[in-house]
Amino acid sequence: MRSSSLTFLGGVGTVTGSKFLLDLPNSGRLLLDCGLFQGQRDLRRRNWATFPITPSSISAVTLSHAHLDHCGYLPALVRQGFDGPVYATSRTAELASIVLRDSAKLMADEADSANTFGWSVHDRALPLYDEADVERALERLVPLEHEEAVRLPGGRLRLHRAGHILGSSWVELVLNEGKTLVHSGDLGRPVHPLLQPPTPLSNTDVLLIESTYGSRHHDDSMTMEDMAQAITTTAERGGSVLIPAFAPRS
Ligand SMILES: [Zn+2]
Repeated sequence: MRSSSLTFLGGVGTVTGSKFLLDLPNSGRLLLDCGLFQGQRDLRRRNWATFPITPSSISAVTLSHAHLDHCGYLPALVRQGFDGPVYATSRTAELASIVLRDSAKLMADEADSANTFGWSVHDRALPLYDEADVERALERLVPLEHEEAVRLPGGRLRLHRAGHILGSSWVELVLNEGKTLVHSGDLGRPVHPLLQPPTPLSNTDVLLIESTYGSRHHDDSMTMEDMAQAITTTAERGGSVLIPAFAPRS
């Protein structure tokens, strides 16, 4: 009998493009996150690579949260034939509708600029996906609440709070074959002024965990004071404070 397999299709050697393919014999294929590669040109080019399996053979997608590097490839997957359910919290679904529509618009703007100014190495620059692909992708969303259980062909799915952004989740899959797999997505801190803390994990057989900031220590109590101090010091010197917002471009 064929055994289950897990393939990393992104989020390896780079922090973007999160996509993890779980192939379950007789129960279909699940894609955990469907992120866009972002950053330098050679990374973004990976979004154009042929998808390693036929997208229509994927039975369902789960989204941990609505950042583009975790959900931004979804319209491209739908464009290539995926038509199954996409499970996410209702808040992630709402945020994804904003983020993905914005992403399609940015891609269209970028292609227009490349064509107008002749930046493209191709005859004609095209966006990876357009607004119609985004609308079709959004129709696939199945909103869940945190802790709500849903049956999939291969097992049972539940989304737990990850405390990273509004609606963010870690994904728990209790597979029919008896094993549990957890996909952390991006995790937040235990103390946050707006978000509830991540739900503790007690037990799993397989753990896929985000490790981008794993080597850093965040001192929660100092963040606001540090920022106030930086602004005060800069203002006293007559300088300008630029505060970058996290608004990734595709
Ligand atoms: Zn994130």
